[in-house]
Amino acid sequence: MSRFFTTKLSALKPYTPGEQPQDMQYVKLNTNESPYPPSPKALAYARDAASSLMLYPDPEYKVLCAKIAEVLGVQADQVVVGNGSDEILDFAFAAFCEKGAVYPDTSYGFYPVFACMNGVSGTEIPVGDDLSLNPADYAGAGKTVFIANPNAPSGVALSLSDIETIVRSNPDSVVVIDEAYVDFGAVSAVPLTKKYDNLLVVQTFSKSRSLAGARFGFGIGSPELISDLNRIRFSKNPYNVSRTTAAAALGALEDEDITRENCRKIMETRRRTAERLKAMGFTGPESSTNFLFIKHPEIDGKELYLKLKERGVLVRHFDKERIAAYNRVTIGTDEQMEIFITTVSAILEEMK
Ligand code: PMP
Repeated sequence: MSRFFTTKLSALKPYTPGEQPQDMQYVKLNTNESPYPPSPKALAYARDAASSLMLYPDPEYKVLCAKIAEVLGVQADQVVVGNGSDEILDFAFAAFCEKGAVYPDTSYGFYPVFACMNGVSGTEIPVGDDLSLNPADYAGAGKTVFIANPNAPSGVALSLSDIETIVRSNPDSVVVIDEAYVDFGAVSAVPLTKKYDNLLVVQTFSKSRSLAGARFGFGIGSPELISDLNRIRFSKNPYNVSRTTAAAALGALEDEDITRENCRKIMETRRRTAERLKAMGFTGPESSTNFLFIKHPEIDGKELYLKLKERGVLVRHFDKERIAAYNRVTIGTDEQMEIFITTVSAILEEMK
């Protein structure tokens, strides 16, 4: 730290993103990207938009917001766009957390980082031993609630009625439901945004829509919440989504059948992979996401991660005591999962 760094942020521990190694080609199952390419329209629209890159984008992203609204069944003034859903989460920490924030102790690692960056006092609520969230722990929290549904890295989803209970029991605080993985088997809370003015739902194009590299996410809430978030957005970076990204996102939304088909394939591969892992002695919670969170009684989580990496298979291990036994494995193509299973079998065999 230089002597110039602000003391206000001296305690800041930055988020550690998953490895993006450039040294060799891995079977990359560590950052929950889609194994399938972006839709043809997403690519074509991005290519077309590239010829206008000398111009700033529309800071109101009117066309894109209208399309998101149409696809999700809300009004255009209920949509705010972000440079990844991370940015929307950051805006929410900046806008709504005067009384502090609460989030599960085992969840998305960016929540405490955004809390610190925005001078918000954050409180972690322990998840159960089975890594599930108890909705009652968030009832009447009196602070802004951040819940990933389904949660990461556990993959566990709450029901819509549990989400509604949390929203209803916090009428004077915003409840942020981070639906990064919702398209892989959970139920979205977007329809509830018409009923509750304290609900903000955040989604991303990084997973089900195969656009992690484009960086695009959005938030849906009451027009008033969205106007507050836009106030923050226009105060930080009115052109937060590039022309090419906005175009790619629009293209992806016009190819919704491709998104649905990719999600179906990923869920099917997940089902098959989970069955095989179970037969090999792995355990872990039921996943409603594009990853599995698994542990094995005969091998330590970190050891398995390192042995897989040596053999060219990358998964995500978290050096956090509560979950150190586990690895998070992104669902890739059937071919990638075959390599993963074969490699894990060989490692377990060697240990005998
Ligand atoms: N929320 C959760 C729970 C995530 O796992 C991720 C992906 N790391 C994000 C939000 C952010 O996704 P992005 O910024 O790529 O939209």
